[in-house]
Amino acid sequence: MIMRKVLLMAMLAMALTAGAQEVICHRGYWDTDGSAQNSIRSLVKADSIGAWGSEFDVWMTADGVLVVNHDETFNDVVIETAKWKQLKNMRLENGEPLPTLDHMLECGKQLKTRLILEMKPHTSKEQELEAVRKIVKMVKQKGLEERIEYITFSYAGMKNLKEMAPAGTPVYYLNGELSPAQLAELEVAGIDYSIGVMREHPQWIDEAHELGMKVNVWTVNSDRDMDWCINYGVDFITTNAPERLQQKLAR
Ligand code: MG
Repeated sequence: MIMRKVLLMAMLAMALTAGAQEVICHRGYWDTDGSAQNSIRSLVKADSIGAWGSEFDVWMTADGVLVVNHDETFNDVVIETAKWKQLKNMRLENGEPLPTLDHMLECGKQLKTRLILEMKPHTSKEQELEAVRKIVKMVKQKGLEERIEYITFSYAGMKNLKEMAPAGTPVYYLNGELSPAQLAELEVAGIDYSIGVMREHPQWIDEAHELGMKVNVWTVNSDRDMDWCINYGVDFITTNAPERLQQKLAR
């Protein structure tokens, strides 16, 4: 009985010190009526359910247009080697035009949810560097510097985002091979690793926290994975099922 009480108190103390756990919609809130992955609608839907953040993916065309899409291709056209005119009349599954970053950020300005911008690793590192320059500039022009967080699988991209975005802008690394201690030297905001990587390295959660970094985990869809992240005190949980996760966190 006493042991149980001690355990409950320890758990309560952990929950109090862990801080809020937040929901991020993976590629927006797309698994719902009228939405599609990485659509303007998915950003609006994420905001409408009060999600803390909404994630989307960004590529740059050969002629310098920033496009929101997950895959490197859209309708078999390779985005990074295409011209915008080849893509601009294409439509998403929900009938929306393929969004540009400009469209996405314009929409984001009207909303409250945080904008989690994933910069995709480009084949040409010069083009990727140019993409970082353009992204950072556009975010500034739209007055969204306080509302944006950057994530990327690209090691060079992470360093470039860190260097070009205003000091204190959160930048997270996705690729999963670096420990929190290795990343702390680069002064990034934290790790944003897959649930598979985190289950192999659960100690990285406490390590990151001790180094003053945050932990984001993706893509957390099953109840089992959601419960794991909640119990381990993961700060940001990126999911395709944001409403189910919100219900769990509200309990
Ligand atoms: Mg992504």
